[in-house]
Amino acid sequence: MANVVLEAQKLVKIYNAYSENAFEALHGVDFKVYEGEFVGIMGPSGSGKSTFINNISTIDMPTSGEVRINGHDVKLMSDEEVGKFRYDNLGFIFQDFNLLDTHTIFENIAMPLSLAKMDEKEITKRVNELADRMNITITLEKLPFECSGGQRQRGAICRALVNNPNIIMADEPTGKLDSANSSQLMKIFQKMNNEDKVTIVMVTHDPLIASYTSRLIFIKDGMIQKELSKGDMTQDEYFQKIVEINSEESRGIIQ
Ligand code: ADP
Repeated sequence: MANVVLEAQKLVKIYNAYSENAFEALHGVDFKVYEGEFVGIMGPSGSGKSTFINNISTIDMPTSGEVRINGHDVKLMSDEEVGKFRYDNLGFIFQDFNLLDTHTIFENIAMPLSLAKMDEKEITKRVNELADRMNITITLEKLPFECSGGQRQRGAICRALVNNPNIIMADEPTGKLDSANSSQLMKIFQKMNNEDKVTIVMVTHDPLIASYTSRLIFIKDGMIQKELSKGDMTQDEYFQKIVEINSEESRGIIQ
């Protein structure tokens, strides 16, 4: 059995906990991710997907409950330790790419290593290798606005991978991409997952994107409502099943 790389227990998130607008967005969620999995998180808008991924990835801290990443209890770390821990363990990819507009793609990718004061030669080597793998070498000296959406997203992937994290956290990474770039990105994710053994946790609302994962959890009203593993299904069978679950969900909302 593979190792557990991420574990959440009884995760509760209350926004504005101490005001009359207090809102409980997660109601005691239990969740485990095993090494080498590619897990998708689906659910209707407002169901708590972003809250969930933020709270299992050190971006936000849960109101109560436990999060362990690679065996470490996140709550016990100081802010400084969390920063270092992220650098050593996690890579993040967001819908908006989050590249710095005034820096070239090279500088954006190199950023985590420059901040960690890595040797310049080693930085150049790593950035060039990754850019070559992601086929964006020609963009390295360009600013983000001079690149296509797909190139920017691949730049963001290089930045997420440059410190060799063993877990990638992605929140709607294809949200701003057209369908050709979206499926190309999913093939890159599958390759990272299969060949580099990177564990991936990804939020998506799109059944086609979800069909690239190995397991899915469906969140509704701040709780895990269902799970689905790809198992022996072909990608097409898995996709059909995901569409079915999503449309049952939508029918439930209409009725
Ligand atoms: P999803 O990603 O599934 O669309 P979110 O995690 O963004 O859902 O939101 C879940 C619920 O929590 C929603 O009802 C949303 O309005 C609420 N919420 C999200 N962020 C905040 C916040 N910062 N303050 C208060 N409520 C929030």
